[in-house]
Amino acid sequence: MPQPRYREDLVRAEILALAGSQPLNRSQIAARLGLGAATVSDHTRRLIELGFMRELPPQVSGPGRPRVPLEVVADAAHTLGLRVHPDHLVGVVMRLDGSEVRRFKLPFSPADDPVDQLASACEPVLEDSRVRAVGLALPGLIDPFAGTVRLSPRLGWTDLPLLPLLAARLPVPVLIDNDTRASTTAELLFGAGREHDDFLVLAIGDGVGMGIVLGRRVHRGPDGVAGEFGHVPIGPGGPTCVCGRRGCLDAYVADYALAAEARARGLTSTQVPDLVRLAAEDAPGIRDLLAETGAILGRAVAGVANVLAVRAMTVIGESHVLWPYLAPGFHSVSDDGILPGLDIAVRPWDDSGHALGAASLVLAASVVS
Ligand SMILES: [Zn+2]
Repeated sequence: MPQPRYREDLVRAEILALAGSQPLNRSQIAARLGLGAATVSDHTRRLIELGFMRELPPQVSGPGRPRVPLEVVADAAHTLGLRVHPDHLVGVVMRLDGSEVRRFKLPFSPADDPVDQLASACEPVLEDSRVRAVGLALPGLIDPFAGTVRLSPRLGWTDLPLLPLLAARLPVPVLIDNDTRASTTAELLFGAGREHDDFLVLAIGDGVGMGIVLGRRVHRGPDGVAGEFGHVPIGPGGPTCVCGRRGCLDAYVADYALAAEARARGLTSTQVPDLVRLAAEDAPGIRDLLAETGAILGRAVAGVANVLAVRAMTVIGESHVLWPYLAPGFHSVSDDGILPGLDIAVRPWDDSGHALGAASLVLAASVVS
């Protein structure tokens, strides 16, 4: 079907996300989102026409006109988010208020026809006509405007026009984005964005990614690939990175790099859970390694946080479980005065995290409304 132009028109999604947690009147919505009364009236009128919101009985409190609370009709429309892993897909069907209807997991082989596999994963879900749009979260350099995977070493794809190919197969709008930026959209709507207009999202796992929200908008840059934090140079002559250069942040903090360094220090570990277990047992040397890594991460984050003057950061990703052991080093950088005080939230995270982000992405891009 014809695809909507990729839009950053978040306002309706923000209204749904805000009123999804509790009914709010138009004045409250306008105050929280920094919008004018007329703008909020226009958007809420449209959301009511679509059946996505409804008015509750007026509340009279003091002089003046009674306030009419608006509530979200969460099941009026759903979105499907898919996270594409090198060996499987995770799908999440999401309601308008951000809550999850259900999730599923399917095998996936990037070397085989990806469009056919992705379409086959979506089609049974789209039999429910409430599912209005599909979002995909993928690792790598993704151009969300053109809908192209420019480079994804983990999936082995280069210059794949995934969105147009998939859109030709599916009866609903489709959007794609980098997985960290998809989750940053979710964080804007349902997480840190409830409190902050400017914040960072630090994704730690098999690489290091950065989501940047400024003025309540996810920063993508002109070609949509902003946030490639993992290849910020840290140490000349440092460990070799997957990109081929030496001393990138990834080469110190990514899970494979941590495991390799742990082995080099005589610790037997191959995966993040092993590192968590060793740290919990206080095996010799492990907490020092993780604190040193946290300090490297803290200095790198300081560069971004100082330049952008943000004061909040959310930690996501598979390696978030290491945060208690990375944090002492990370905060030592604050103590040195290099890093501004950050309001840090660590999100519970599992395999579906980026899939929820992908579902938020299509909600946020207003393609369902
Ligand atoms: Zn690199």
